[in-house]
Amino acid sequence: MKRFAVLLSRLERLRPPYGPCGICGGPDARHRMWDAMEGQSRTSDGITGTAIDLCVTKSEIRAVRAAYDEARRLHVRLPGRYPLQT
Ligand SMILES: [Zn+2]
Repeated sequence: MKRFAVLLSRLERLRPPYGPCGICGGPDARHRMWDAMEGQSRTSDGITGTAIDLCVTKSEIRAVRAAYDEARRLHVRLPGRYPLQT
């Protein structure tokens, strides 16, 4: 769990929290951008195409993917959406 906390703190530094989310009402709307980065970057668009399309850096996408990979390993979700999971 410590590694997950480190990965989340890296995301904090890259993009400050904002919200609430207009879709689910959760306190941190970043999860929608993270979902987009995670999902699109694993298609044929890859990290480079996704970075161009979403106007984000490749390093932010790599940080998001690392956090998702760790979340899957721990069977948890990234925080911020509703209902709250963490
Ligand atoms: Zn939401």
